[in-house]
Amino acid sequence: MTQITRRAVIGGVGALAAGLHTGIASARILPATMVPLIGRGYRPVDADEKGLWQQVERVEEEIAGSNILLHDPGVTSYLRALIGKVGGPAASDMRIYLAHVPEFNAVMFPTGFAIVFSGLLLRMRNEAQLAGVIAHESGHFLRKHQLRQFRDIKKKSDIFSAVSLLGGMVGGAAGVGTGNLQQLAELGTVASLFRYNREIEAEADAMGVKLLAGAGYAPTAMPETWQQLIDEQNLSARYRRKHRDRGYSLFETHPAPESRMADLRASAAEVTVPGRSYDDGRARYLSTIAAIRPMLLDDQVKLNDPGASLYIVQTLAQDGWSGPLRFAEAEIWRLRGDPRQRDAERAAAGYSAAVQLPDAPADAWRWHGVMLQKAGRTAEARAAYSRYLAMAPAAPDAPFVRQQLTVMGG
Ligand SMILES: [Zn+2]
Repeated sequence: MTQITRRAVIGGVGALAAGLHTGIASARILPATMVPLIGRGYRPVDADEKGLWQQVERVEEEIAGSNILLHDPGVTSYLRALIGKVGGPAASDMRIYLAHVPEFNAVMFPTGFAIVFSGLLLRMRNEAQLAGVIAHESGHFLRKHQLRQFRDIKKKSDIFSAVSLLGGMVGGAAGVGTGNLQQLAELGTVASLFRYNREIEAEADAMGVKLLAGAGYAPTAMPETWQQLIDEQNLSARYRRKHRDRGYSLFETHPAPESRMADLRASAAEVTVPGRSYDDGRARYLSTIAAIRPMLLDDQVKLNDPGASLYIVQTLAQDGWSGPLRFAEAEIWRLRGDPRQRDAERAAAGYSAAVQLPDAPADAWRWHGVMLQKAGRTAEARAAYSRYLAMAPAAPDAPFVRQQLTVMGG
């Protein structure tokens, strides 16, 4: 399955947890008023809900067996533990899957399973931020938002559209497994009907903040995440010449206008215990994702969305530059390759900075070598290539690099 396909797919699925409505400004929903509507071992009650569950259980089966999931035992058990902490009374019933999709998103399905996108893991600076997103999604399950939405759709249209909506969801999920483009497209259109309105989102925010604080995390991690999302989108737009539709991103499905940010900040302040020191779990988080982070960076950079990628790299670098971060920064410019912006020079400078760091990836040495060779700095290029070959002797391009060494003589 191509990257575009994966993104299109989950876009459709993502719309399940959506909310584009702007609506009329209303009073903030107070975290204290948010109580879970379901408890442990919850089962569907009436016919509507039973039908919904039945269909969504098939969706989960498809997703659980699909090639879209990232299977890293360390990360998946970590995610499971995390939803266990912020999932409220139904936490032990919830399931969580990690999808290999470079988008800033996470979704919760009506039966209590969540999908976290790998692009979300890339962007989170610490455990508290990730826990905040998961808490928000748990809020949707605990408040039975999907059922409320399903009933709304039934009321507004008719039973047949509601049923075909579910059919489309299942068909689309089957597409996730099989890579069937038609089905994937169907999932995108049909599931986009399943968008939450602003009030439902506000409830999930209030419930989420409460769950987050209850688990001992600083509730301010939640508005921090939304701010990152807004800033990333702004920088992405500034670098893009023409607008690219990202209707499947968290930004589109979870709009964060100023009023929502203000509400989130107020709610976070309300549930923060004065004088208490909160652990953001950064060290634990970073060590958990350390092994997959270079891949997550690579996925993002390859989207060729320089504004967003640059924002992400620079945000993560606030916690310290690393070889993979410097390498990713250089790759952003190399892939854009705009001569008027002197991208080649910027990339060369980036590779050069990356190889100064002890954890520089092998590819940084290779590209550093390429740039030096182009600049006619043969001896240094040879040294960089040799270092690359020592680190990645079995790389597919190793024979080519050896040949370059020969060409350069010595
Ligand atoms: Zn939401």
